[in-house]
Amino acid sequence: MNNTKLKLAIQKGGRLSEKSLDLLQRCGIKVSNGGKLRAEAANFPLEVLYLRDDDIPQYVAEGVADIGIAGENVVLEKGFDLPVAERLGFAKCRLSLAVKREENYTDLSWFKGKKIATSYPVVLQAFLSEKGIDAEIEQISGSVEIAPSIGLAEAVCDIVSTGSTLLANGLKEVETILRSEAVLIADPNLPEGKQALLDKLLFRMRAVENAGRNKYILLNAPNDAIGKITSILPGMKSPTVLPLATEGWSSLHSVVSEDDFWEVIDRLKSAGAEGILVCPIEKMVL
Ligand code: ATP
Ligand code: MG
Repeated sequence: MNNTKLKLAIQKGGRLSEKSLDLLQRCGIKVSNGGKLRAEAANFPLEVLYLRDDDIPQYVAEGVADIGIAGENVVLEKGFDLPVAERLGFAKCRLSLAVKREENYTDLSWFKGKKIATSYPVVLQAFLSEKGIDAEIEQISGSVEIAPSIGLAEAVCDIVSTGSTLLANGLKEVETILRSEAVLIADPNLPEGKQALLDKLLFRMRAVENAGRNKYILLNAPNDAIGKITSILPGMKSPTVLPLATEGWSSLHSVVSEDDFWEVIDRLKSAGAEGILVCPIEKMVL
């Protein structure tokens, strides 16, 4: 019997936890999350380790975990140079520089000689060096946004999503250093059996991801409009055309990307489509 199991590290409790477990579930993998630090999946050879997000790159780099889900911001900060096996599209945020709202900020040269508080000294230093800015970095592990108001630093470099935290602390975002999302990192030297399991997991993740980006569309059309409508519908190959009980009419089924959706709907209507239904797709294998 083959006992090979893939060890996946995910965040124990935080912004990545629920979405990570949700992704596994949509890949058909059930993992109990009963407050334990490790759990076995019921129906896939996978063991899940629940960790602080900051420790996940190190665990993967040292081979304690085979793969892990972490924010790209954390992966880059830890500097283990781990390959990203898949970008996961959630926990989207940016790492930005912010200054006091009343500052007369013009460009990056403002930061010369200034003190910047951050939990991301490595990424920040790389950015400043690349831009040729000599500034002082004050490393702190949390509550970075209050640093300017208590006189610890003149600026901050922190994670931003809506900007409301910055605003509430009298700061304004002036430069974006990095755009981040959750990524699946992997040990680049997995033994064959584990690599095969990772490939299987990636196949499922991509099917889920493709499904999320597309919609299933059904519509009715008079037969003489089928040609025009088919040219508008991108589809995977070409649309399915089924006759309706009403003479001279057909039902067309296809797939449209979420991005083109509204544009396509308008064009379909003007080409004569009626009774348009749009449904979510659960899995999509290309
Ligand atoms: P831990 O206790 O595991 O160390 P943490 O407090 O360091 O957790 P979280 O706040 O849970 O981390 O954030 C985890 C990751 O989620 C961040 O590294 C970042 O990639 C992403 N993230 C952080 N803030 C936001 C946000 N406001 N919107 C979207 N994603 C975010
Ligand atoms: Mg953390």
